[in-house]
Amino acid sequence: MKVLKFGGTSVGSVENMQHVKHIIADGSKKIVVLSAMSGTTNTLVSIANAIRHNTPDEAIEKINSLHESYFATIDGLLLDEALNSDVKHYVTEIFNFLLESTYTEFSITLENEILAQGELLSTYMFNAYLKQEGIRSALLPALDFMKINTSKEPDLNYIKDRFKLAWEAISDVDIYITQGFICLDEVDKVSNLQRGGSDYTATIIGAVIRAEEVQIWTDIDGMHNNDPRYVDNTYPISNLSFDEAAELAYFGAKILHPQTVLPVRQDGIPVRLKNTMDPDAFGTLISGDTSENGIKAIAAKDQITAIKIKSGRMLQAHGFLKKVFEVFETHETSIDMITTSEVAVSLTIDDDRNLDSIVAELEQFASIEVDTDQTIVCLVGHSIVNHESTFKLFQILKDVKIRMISYGGSRNNISLLIHSKDKITTLNKLNDYLFELVTL
Ligand code: ADP
Ligand code: ASP
Ligand code: MG
Repeated sequence: MKVLKFGGTSVGSVENMQHVKHIIADGSKKIVVLSAMSGTTNTLVSIANAIRHNTPDEAIEKINSLHESYFATIDGLLLDEALNSDVKHYVTEIFNFLLESTYTEFSITLENEILAQGELLSTYMFNAYLKQEGIRSALLPALDFMKINTSKEPDLNYIKDRFKLAWEAISDVDIYITQGFICLDEVDKVSNLQRGGSDYTATIIGAVIRAEEVQIWTDIDGMHNNDPRYVDNTYPISNLSFDEAAELAYFGAKILHPQTVLPVRQDGIPVRLKNTMDPDAFGTLISGDTSENGIKAIAAKDQITAIKIKSGRMLQAHGFLKKVFEVFETHETSIDMITTSEVAVSLTIDDDRNLDSIVAELEQFASIEVDTDQTIVCLVGHSIVNHESTFKLFQILKDVKIRMISYGGSRNNISLLIHSKDKITTLNKLNDYLFELVTL
């Protein structure tokens, strides 16, 4: 069986939902994971923020206008009167919950409950639409089986058992629809898999049911060789290995949630990236095939903080790095890049929530410099470290100030740390030279 995930744009309008129906209605049994309609989760975040900042009027205005836009979509999608009114009733209950939230004291749980409504709305509407079109479908509520543990990792045994139960309770349908992104936490409170998490939902389900394939349907024809939001003339890459795709997703290729590949890599379950608006385009196949060498793609991850930790006696002081890492471990902050010299170690983090405490603790044994607004530019390709173009990097980037460089951490990745203001120029320069539009 296949798992097909459709992202925000794919379910973002009546017309696109109709496209999705054509893609999935081929009579074969499948699991369909849906995101919220595009823009909804962002609006829900701003509603939660308004509640957090005690500006309920602002929240109420946003809730009412979102409610209206859902009614317009329902009228465009559901001409069947009974289904139309059933869905409006369900949607109104959700908007009533949101309105009530504006009188509630803010908490993280409340915020997570608010954020969960987007996927509940889209799946309910889409299931009704399939019914109207005579397609045998049913909802599998994600909150009945999707769960994370204290480390915020999916609790795979629980998910496997509970998914099976939910699945076995429903027969005689072809399409099982579930919500991406949302889950329960270790104490059964509503939580989520972080922004963009519907991709992750799809591969987690793919792993627990040992799917034949996971398909991520989005608004572009696969993983491109560079970020199409900042670089022109990018092109889709037909094949990526699991490792290459994992590096690109982790280092900022927005088309995939950073963790997407992890659940399916070990079992070699292929992941196909496809374009809902152009289903005939090949897209990208992510698999265990590692036969292609060289530079495949470039990605960039913003909002990075660099920390330089200087100690006069680092070389002699064995145990120094251990002390440094312990500080980050205590604050549950993971490190992305690291470089060392005789007197200093520089490293980067993307989660700066505990930066002040981290710096205060490091200052007890070293002097610290912090640089914010940094970007990691990551070049990915199987065996990239040996590729001929790789040695031209310094020449290509002679005018760009490189703050750190990481080479050899894996054979598939070279990472550069630059100031974010240089990101677009750097991505474009690398594009021109590495993909041989220009020769040096
Ligand atoms: P969805 O809502 O379907 O999950 P996303 O917006 O999360 O879609 O991801 C698709 C977007 O990712 C594309 O529209 C594109 O702008 C962006 N993107 C960034 N880097 C890449 C890349 N290397 N290849 C393809 N798309 C990318
Ligand atoms: N709706 C969620 C978000 O916007 C999850 C997703 O789209 O994958 O982040
Ligand atoms: Mg996404």
